[in-house]
Amino acid sequence: MATPMRPGPPRQSRNPELPLPSAPGASQEEIRRQNLGAVLRHVHVHGPTSRAELTSRLGLNRSTIGALAADLAAAGLVTEEVPTTARRAGRPSLVVSPRSGRVYAHALSIEADRLRAARVGLGGRILDLREVDRPDGMAAPDAVGPLADLLRDMARSVPGDALLAGGAVAVVDTTRDGAGRIRIGGADETLHAALGAEFPAGPGFVTGDLADIAGLAEHVRGVAAGVNDLVYLHGDRGVSAGIISGGRLVLGHRGRSGKVGHMVVDPDGLPCGCGSRGCWETEIGEAALLRHAGREPGGPEAVHEVLRAAAAGEQTARAAVDRVADWLGFGVANLVNVINPNTVVFGGSLRELYLAGAGTVRHRLEAMVLPPCREHVHLRAAALGPDAALIGAAELAFDTLLADPLHAGAAG
Ligand SMILES: [Zn+2]
Repeated sequence: MATPMRPGPPRQSRNPELPLPSAPGASQEEIRRQNLGAVLRHVHVHGPTSRAELTSRLGLNRSTIGALAADLAAAGLVTEEVPTTARRAGRPSLVVSPRSGRVYAHALSIEADRLRAARVGLGGRILDLREVDRPDGMAAPDAVGPLADLLRDMARSVPGDALLAGGAVAVVDTTRDGAGRIRIGGADETLHAALGAEFPAGPGFVTGDLADIAGLAEHVRGVAAGVNDLVYLHGDRGVSAGIISGGRLVLGHRGRSGKVGHMVVDPDGLPCGCGSRGCWETEIGEAALLRHAGREPGGPEAVHEVLRAAAAGEQTARAAVDRVADWLGFGVANLVNVINPNTVVFGGSLRELYLAGAGTVRHRLEAMVLPPCREHVHLRAAALGPDAALIGAAELAFDTLLADPLHAGAAG
């Protein structure tokens, strides 16, 4: 099992930011830990917040919030400051802010064509970011060494009193060999072993599928913030999905859910690198767009060129965009019927494709989706751009700290 992300329903509409209702018999210490976590999570997600606002948003009383904020400040996790613009007379409510420069996570991504490493501060701010190319066919465990080099480079500029809260790796779900054959997997035991060997000390790394983690980022602080039922579609060389239902990631039995790119949409279609035929990604992947536009095979830059040409009125490019957008809508319509999300988010290379062909996608949904699923569904372009996987990885990495703020993390 590759990932500790919380699986599965229960389907409930509880606001995850509110302190958990205390179990009967919960000790004062447990209640305090939950409340500290709720305050820290609130300022981590929403940024600087006054004690007065925390009091009303978290449903705790003023003196409790004051004591919790003071404890978090004493632990070096937040600052408390008098607001610069106090509107009312009387003593202003102190503003509680995450210490982004001091408390940080290691966020790594193993993407289709590059490896990225970032230090992300509490509050979700990227403090430092490095990247190198990922050679074709490089297996995920072999990426750990180059990523460790990037982290070592960054470590030179980390302040001495900084606190490392944890680390996480977002791994693209498939690797292709030179012949285009797909090997499913990435966030698996061999990757864990490589991480353990490279980083024997410190808080360790959690791993997960890149589409799941980028979807989590859009759910926490992106275009789907606060939306508990969403499908995040990620395009690069392939297509996969991060599915969040009832506020929780849907991972499947072995953490392999969301391989929507291999949903067969045409049994007589083109052969796919997975060994099947007519998979969705053979019709909506980057290769399909370039093929229909009469271009040579290429990467993201070649895709942008086709989208620019379509916008400028080149007929072949426009027809290619319309055709691929129609297939995009075809698959999304099926997913909406099955999953009944509130929001579908288009990320990676699918973001630009969606924006170029949104009308065609919507037309498909209107024709294919059952009215009860269709009437409330929102289609959105991803907001966090190419950093979504790193921001989402940091969210995973901060989980332990946010669950128990005074007993997590390691100096470094
Ligand atoms: Zn396939």
